[in-house]
Amino acid sequence: PPLHHHPQEHQACLCMYKNGFDIRVVGCSGDPTMFEEFWRATGDAAEIVIPGWQTMSYFSDVGNVCWFLEPGFDHEVRRLHRLVGNAAADDGYHVLVGTGSTQLFMAALYALSPPNAASPMNVVSTAPYYSSYPAVTDFLQSGLFRWAGDANSFHGDAYIELVCSPNNPDGTIREAVLSSGSGVAVHDLAYYWPQYTAITKRADHDIMLFTVSKSTGHAGTRIGWALVKDREVAKKMTKFIELNTIGVSKDSQLRAAKVLRAVSDAYELPEARTEEHRLFDYGRRKMVERWRMLRDAAAASGIFSLPDETSGYCNFTKDKAATNPAFAWLRCDREDVEDCASFLRGHKILTRSGSQFGADPRYVRVSMLDRDDAYDIFVRRLASLK
Ligand code: PMP
Repeated sequence: PPLHHHPQEHQACLCMYKNGFDIRVVGCSGDPTMFEEFWRATGDAAEIVIPGWQTMSYFSDVGNVCWFLEPGFDHEVRRLHRLVGNAAADDGYHVLVGTGSTQLFMAALYALSPPNAASPMNVVSTAPYYSSYPAVTDFLQSGLFRWAGDANSFHGDAYIELVCSPNNPDGTIREAVLSSGSGVAVHDLAYYWPQYTAITKRADHDIMLFTVSKSTGHAGTRIGWALVKDREVAKKMTKFIELNTIGVSKDSQLRAAKVLRAVSDAYELPEARTEEHRLFDYGRRKMVERWRMLRDAAAASGIFSLPDETSGYCNFTKDKAATNPAFAWLRCDREDVEDCASFLRGHKILTRSGSQFGADPRYVRVSMLDRDDAYDIFVRRLASLK
């Protein structure tokens, strides 16, 4: 059933904006609407116009492994990584585009699972893990791969380990925990951007996934990218997307390219703008402010605990920066509350239960990327709980 549109009267947390979706599935999905305020203030810097005759062909760059990749998007992806220093995009990597990084995640599973194996490839990740990993891995009941749970309790040497860093849902900085046999890792670096964490090294893993959903907030554009070292893996991932959707919307790629270009321009052009036009400055300021509000609210309430703040030297901003995760991994410490999500639901705060992330239901995940009005209601409600 449709959910309500009036946050003040109904439930805090981003779920209240969802209309017509099953709340148990998409509730508190981390819709990054916080960034709308930033993009509203950028004027036409991220605008595009596409004449009726353009972007009609299936093909973008027939000589490229990823033949549906728009060269302008490829260019802006590499430029942004060069600016931020979060990934070694220029060191022989193939850039692949996907309909969100979700499609590239599926493409990676397909590419890394041998077609003739006796049993499906095991897909693992350290708990708490992003709830889509098991859901997406198993929904078509593939014979090629299957969800095998927490990487820490996995034994065997045929596996794909998903490494999400900073991690959704708990914000921790992670590295692969498995290293045996023929196992391979896929690094999901959706949150490895300066608004969420200090950029401490140029990541150079074999397969790295990124998305505009979390870097710029354009989740609805449905554009993600993969940086892939091995040409054969890049080819197989491209094949998956060819079979799945015959490529990726060019219109969306052009828009994403323009958005990324606006981000880099604001740092690199001589007439460069003020803090309010610099995405990562804006994002970090907002996230620091929101985390302070949340920690104050948890302290005022007295019944919740949050992960400790960690910090590191950020090579991008050239200063020491705290981690400001895109999600709060909140634990209810009250002895009589075993299911924190339903406790909070009873107080009109919608969250996702820790159990969906392979963890204790005393924990919940709360999005930190909602619009100001909803976020304010959320922290006020949280502070009042005893
Ligand atoms: N990876 C992680 C860790 C995420 O949190 C998300 C979004 N919730 C995604 C991937 C999916 O991103 P996209 O919108 O690009 O499909």
